Amino acid sequence: MEQLIALEKRVCANNYDPLPVVLRSGAGAWLTDIHGKRYLDLMSAYSATSFGHGHPRLLAALTEQAQRLAMTSRAYYTDRLGPFLSRLCEMTRMDRALPMNTGAEAVETALKAARKWAYEVKGVAPDRAQIVVCAGNFAGRTTTIVGFSSEAQYRAGFGPFAPGFVTVPFGDAAALEAAITPDTAAFLVEPIQGEGGIVVPPDGYLAQCRAICTRHDVLLICDEVQTGLGRTGRLLACDHDGIRPDGLVLGKALGGGLLPVSAFLARDDVMAVFRPGDHGSTFGGNPLACAVGLAALDLLEEERLAQRAQALGALLMAELRALRHPAIREIRGRGLLIGMELDPAQVSARVFCERLMHRGILSKDTHGTVVRLAPPLIISEQEIGIAVVAIAAILQDIGIAA
Ligand SMILES: *Cc1c(COP(=O)(O)O)cnc(C)c1O
Repeated sequence: MEQLIALEKRVCANNYDPLPVVLRSGAGAWLTDIHGKRYLDLMSAYSATSFGHGHPRLLAALTEQAQRLAMTSRAYYTDRLGPFLSRLCEMTRMDRALPMNTGAEAVETALKAARKWAYEVKGVAPDRAQIVVCAGNFAGRTTTIVGFSSEAQYRAGFGPFAPGFVTVPFGDAAALEAAITPDTAAFLVEPIQGEGGIVVPPDGYLAQCRAICTRHDVLLICDEVQTGLGRTGRLLACDHDGIRPDGLVLGKALGGGLLPVSAFLARDDVMAVFRPGDHGSTFGGNPLACAVGLAALDLLEEERLAQRAQALGALLMAELRALRHPAIREIRGRGLLIGMELDPAQVSARVFCERLMHRGILSKDTHGTVVRLAPPLIISEQEIGIAVVAIAAILQDIGIAA
């Protein structure tokens, strides 16, 4: 194990700080390290493995399609792209989709669509379009995206940045309305901020944002790369507020935990700004990605995973709150996207995650004080119980500060 960690540290760029475990295989909600020790996955690769590891139906879709046709580029039509995107549009009630690979690419696609829509449809003067974003956002790591991050480390050393972004506090609809000018093209928002620390906005926030955007002819674009596809207990986190955005960004779980698959979805009149040659991606919409994405959507519906996330998330949050330990400042989240905010004076989130690891549970800290609890949506009630017992035991070890 030490050798593999040393090797990875020597040859890989040092842009992550992994927990000291070397994983070799996975099945369902469980991962196994090179010594055969099993770990319950409470992290789901930042929600990319919502279906668990090695789901037989997804593996079957992957291998069947890989053997038939994996990659064509969009220089041609295929028998997979239409069926995948029509299912995706039908489920999300959007008109059209533009397939990409990673979440960041799909967000970039949304930004391009919003700007071009502002110039061609709204009538904003050339190069004047503004996009409103929220403090604490996370939308990926491209230079444009980190340029509108409020996280100093994501930006430091990577400038100069693209202009045209305005930041408002998350959860404050009045601040959004105040920031809108005649040049505003769009408001880009995560229904729940995932990387920002599982931050849930006040009830009704998205509905208020919807009304404000409609009133000012501004596109509401929801980045549901992390919150979408059942994670929060509904197909989309937007559904909790009963609203439909003008643009929607999906990724992570869309690839079934097997491939990077993302998409920007929008109304017809927004997507109409893209014409042949405007925008693209070599791998975006490849047959392999489409086959796996379609199987993932089918699975989500047939196994009723959103409902499962709703029920099991409520259970997990209730059990964690019942622990009533002073080191826990707050348990927050929706569905199976849960954050446990710790009192850093008692225990750091990193140390907590290391202790979880020793007890056979994998999670990851975010923002120093928050432990992410976001298991695959296929996790069982009994497995949730295993996680709660481990968390309770660690809290017991910490004891109660005087
Ligand atoms: C992870 C994430 C992204 C970026 O996805 P990548 O696939 O890592 O590029 C974008 N938006 C949100 C909300 C995310 O959580």
